[in-house]
Amino acid sequence: VKFVYDFTEGNKDLKDLLGGKGANLAEMTNLGLPVPPGFTITTEACKVYLDSGEEPAALRDEVSAHLDALEQRMGKKLGQADDPLLVSVRSGAKFSMPGMMDTVLNIGLSDKSVQGLAKQAGDERFAWDSYRRLIQMFGKTVLGVDGDLFEDALEAAKEAKKVAVDTELEAADLKKLVTKFKKIVKTQAGRDFPQDPREQMDLAIHAVFDSWNTDRAKLYRRQERIPGDLGTAVNICSMVFGNLGPDSGTGVAFTRDPASGHQGVYGDYLQNAQGEDVVAGIRNTVPLAELETIDKKSYDQLMQIMETLENHYKDLCDIEFTIERGQLWMLQTRVGKRTAGAAFRIATQLVDQGLIDEAEALQRVTGAQLAQLMFPRFDEDTKVAQVGRGIAASPGAAVGKAVFDSYTAVKWSRSGEKVILVRRETNPDDLDGMIAAEGILTSRGGKTSHAAVVARGMGKTCVCGAEELEVDTKRRRMTVPGGHVVEEGDVISIDGSSGKVYLGEVPVVPSPVVEYFEGRMHAGANDADELVEAVHRIMAFADRKRRLRVRANADNAEDAMRARRFGAQGIGLCRTEHMFLGDRRELVERLILADTEAEREESLKALLPLQKQDFVELFSAMDGLPVTIRLLDPPLHEFLPDITELSVRVALAESRQEPHENELRLLQAVHRLHEQNPMLGLRGVRLGLVIPGLFTMQVRAIAEAAAERKAAKGDPRAEIMIPLVGTVQELEIVREEADQVVAEVQAATGTDLKLAIGTMIELPRAALTAGQIAEAAEFFSFGTNDLTQTVWGFSRDDVEASFFTAYLEKGIFGVSPFETIDKDGVGSLVKLAAEAGRATRPDLKLGVCGEHGGDPESVHFFHEVGLDYVSCSPFRIPVARLEAGRAAS
Ligand code: ADP
Ligand code: MG
Ligand code: MG
Repeated sequence: VKFVYDFTEGNKDLKDLLGGKGANLAEMTNLGLPVPPGFTITTEACKVYLDSGEEPAALRDEVSAHLDALEQRMGKKLGQADDPLLVSVRSGAKFSMPGMMDTVLNIGLSDKSVQGLAKQAGDERFAWDSYRRLIQMFGKTVLGVDGDLFEDALEAAKEAKKVAVDTELEAADLKKLVTKFKKIVKTQAGRDFPQDPREQMDLAIHAVFDSWNTDRAKLYRRQERIPGDLGTAVNICSMVFGNLGPDSGTGVAFTRDPASGHQGVYGDYLQNAQGEDVVAGIRNTVPLAELETIDKKSYDQLMQIMETLENHYKDLCDIEFTIERGQLWMLQTRVGKRTAGAAFRIATQLVDQGLIDEAEALQRVTGAQLAQLMFPRFDEDTKVAQVGRGIAASPGAAVGKAVFDSYTAVKWSRSGEKVILVRRETNPDDLDGMIAAEGILTSRGGKTSHAAVVARGMGKTCVCGAEELEVDTKRRRMTVPGGHVVEEGDVISIDGSSGKVYLGEVPVVPSPVVEYFEGRMHAGANDADELVEAVHRIMAFADRKRRLRVRANADNAEDAMRARRFGAQGIGLCRTEHMFLGDRRELVERLILADTEAEREESLKALLPLQKQDFVELFSAMDGLPVTIRLLDPPLHEFLPDITELSVRVALAESRQEPHENELRLLQAVHRLHEQNPMLGLRGVRLGLVIPGLFTMQVRAIAEAAAERKAAKGDPRAEIMIPLVGTVQELEIVREEADQVVAEVQAATGTDLKLAIGTMIELPRAALTAGQIAEAAEFFSFGTNDLTQTVWGFSRDDVEASFFTAYLEKGIFGVSPFETIDKDGVGSLVKLAAEAGRATRPDLKLGVCGEHGGDPESVHFFHEVGLDYVSCSPFRIPVARLEAGRAAS
């Protein structure tokens, strides 16, 4: 194998092998852009090194050969005393990763060659400045010396000379600083700063390899789900100098605005500076546009190159460049990061420019970005002071009074206060407080911390790991940078989409994207309108491309109507249990407690017209579109009073010798119905089989509602869904009764109702015997929440708060299987059942209801296994539509 590639040998598609930076340096080289010559050591070499602890045997010779060629081309040798070739050693993995090693510039300088460099450049100051930078960077990143020691020495030198910025230090000062720096290295690293240039280079290469496995890098990879075995490439790039005086400089640029997507001149430039001075904020940069007056020739060339790059990558690129005495050099480019809003705008702009087509535009945006755009947000022009920033763990905008323990959170929220729970980190004991709070703020922990995982599960705003905040839970306060103290009860605002923390109340504005979906806003000319216009067009692309239909989980007419506005093509799940609550609870109680047939019949009779009315409303809201109604599913005790509360009531009445017959009867029933494991108990189809008349009442209500809608010239399309079926026999029995009821209603009303009857597939046995079940079902709807619960044996109400954090931290899974479908386990059952079902009944309709129906990755999976539709909550519908479109293009 070949371990080293010259920049002329690679291209942008070789990111696996050359890393992002190396692949793009090669691409630019081959585009004929001015890139300083160099070569890339592959990730393969890094892998060998990490596996065996030694670099591959052939590597040294290959590097030597490439270095020779580079030296020949540049006409000087690495570190040559009278005229040294200098290089940078730059890390570059496939994905850019914070926590990996920084770059070392000016490799090749030594006590001798620094003189040669000074003479060649005719600039002594420049040479010593470069040398002190080398020792500083090398000392810090290769030899592991605390960087502050160098910074402090530099500060001291500036103070001694009473100057503000490092450019005001003269050659003699820098020379002294070099001596100082070398001493720091010697005492801290226990060795001299290496004078041999090749040794410098080799040590730097190994340090880059090693940096793949720093704790921070590992943590980052786990959080971002980047595989741990990719390794990093190393780029050796001949130096160009931005610190050669005022006609030199360094800068960064974007080919368009990463916030709005608008084309224009975006970037920063710093005269007489090297590399990282720009980002480090050591001196004030000027806007890139000013380069036009500083150096018109380089500016024009840069604009030309940016256009070339955009047309070539067909996307927004970001760029690092350096100007050495009027000569422009390109040092890096990549497809640039952008905000969610800009992603939509840029995608449509590129379509308009004819650079990409609709299918490609869909690949440039994600459902997660769309979801982000749908959250209400803080007014961006707020004057409220930002006091910190943490990890954006769960999106949303939350305002409330700071509280520092769960007890207070619950107490205050009960009395109507909005609170933000602030903790160093959370644990399962904080659950009540987290539920009570508007949002959660922690100063420790990352994206997989307890706070983050639980908050995301609850859809609650969360900022975690805001390390600058000093949280003191004992004294109920936190100290923000600058020393201000936030006491319990002070109002703070947190932005879960950006991680920003504010002192005081930031006004919240509704998302223009939601306003648009709601039909309250139309595309126009101002900034928000521009975003809406872009979303509107991308949604149209997605709708044209997608094969999957998207339905809503909705239990009432209001939700159904919103779902329709959001683009739902029907209801995939109407949960009837919600129709059994409120004032109807009493009727349900009577039904459950009925001792005689007559009593039971009576309660059913009372429920029938109420149920029917619910369905009439639902059918009219969804006129012309399918409405899947699930017959009663949850364990019955959910409709009865709490057992402890009731016991207390009975005991009290007893001691006061008050009449309590009813309470006692109720208590006995609650005891009778009590189950250790209700989720695996008397629920779903089992209820229908055990409680005579319950399911038939529901079916009658559906059928009569449909008949009424028909009579009113409506177009009801009801589908009756039987939950928790494990075997075809259960379904057959329920179905027979249902068919009979439907036939009765049809005969009585003289209408053909065309009601479909189907089942949920949410037990492993149902999936495994789907071929048989399809004999009695006209459709399947995969209930992947319960299916995940039963396949994994995870109680979904408990696990997220108890041990999932540990599972995520240990990397057992990267994301909760309740959030994204577990393709290998649960997913293969879905696939198997879909195939077996269709083998029995080719026109079997297949859908999925449950949280996964609105999860981007899961939607792609359901597309691939050939389902007909996904169903999700109304707010997720646009996300599902978009992802279904992306999956199909
Ligand atoms: P990062 O990934 O942190 O951006 P880079 O490898 O891009 O690290 O380098 C850090 C800085 O040094 C950048 O500003 C880059 O432009 C600059 N730099 C890297 N190599 C050279 C070089 N050969 N000549 C001049 N500047 C360089
Ligand atoms: Mg860079
Ligand atoms: Mg279920």
